[in-house]
Amino acid sequence: MSNDENKGARLSRQRETILDELRKVKTHPTADEVYDMVRKILPRISLGTVYRNLDFLSGRGVVLRLGGAGTQKRFDGNPAAHPHLRCSVCGRVDDLEWPLALPELPVEQSMGYSRLRCDVEFVGVCPMCAGRDS
Ligand SMILES: [Zn+2]
Ligand SMILES: [Zn+2]
Repeated sequence: MSNDENKGARLSRQRETILDELRKVKTHPTADEVYDMVRKILPRISLGTVYRNLDFLSGRGVVLRLGGAGTQKRFDGNPAAHPHLRCSVCGRVDDLEWPLALPELPVEQSMGYSRLRCDVEFVGVCPMCAGRDS
C-alpha cells in the first residue's frame, strides 16, 4: 500500500468511527462530546479531525448539524428530517414524536437549492432547568 492509500484508509476509519458513535446515541452531542466518545476508540484522534469529519458528514447530509447562529452546534446521526425540542437554558436537544408530516417545499419555490429538508425545532426550558429555577 502506498502512503496515500494508507492515509486514505486511516481517514475513512476515523470517519466511520465518528459516524458509528454518533449513530449510537440520541443525545445530539456537540463536536467536543463526539470527540470524547471517539477518543475512547481512537485515542490518537485530534479534535480538529473530529470537527473536519463532522463538517464533511453534515455537508453531505449523512448526519444532521443542529443549531443556529450563537448556539453550539450539535450533531444527529439520524439524517432524516425530524422535529426537535431544544432547551434554551442548557442547550439539550431531544427528538420529538411528531404525528404530522413535515412540510415539503415545491421544487419551483426552492430557488435552485437541493437536498432540502425542513428543520422543525421547538425551543423551551427543559424539566431539569425549570426545576433549578424554583
Ligand atoms: Zn435545560
Ligand atoms: Zn434528532
